[in-house]
Amino acid sequence: MSENKDHGAKKKLFASLAQPLPVHYPSLSSAMRKQVREAYVYKQKGLCAHCNTKLIEEPDILIQRAWIDEKLFPEGFFDHPIHLHHDHNTGKTIGAIHARCNAYLWQYKGE
Ligand SMILES: [Zn+2]
Repeated sequence: MSENKDHGAKKKLFASLAQPLPVHYPSLSSAMRKQVREAYVYKQKGLCAHCNTKLIEEPDILIQRAWIDEKLFPEGFFDHPIHLHHDHNTGKTIGAIHARCNAYLWQYKGE
């Protein structure tokens, strides 16, 4: 698939989302979570909503260096490199972030 075609497909996907962002994360099926995550990746131009580096690359150096207690996280947590971050109080989606940024936010900020 060419880059232009891929871009067009994402644009179409973004436009096809029934609801505007943010959405209520706990109400989403896993298929919808994937779609919403893709929509955020498109909206954020491929950058992490937390550390602002490319989602397909390693997170910011400060995040990379931060100690993460992997025991705090469920098995398979780090298998998916891009996570859909949401507010644990309101359930509202925030954006697409690195798995490690998600772990960092949870461990250090309780988010
Ligand atoms: Zn990040």
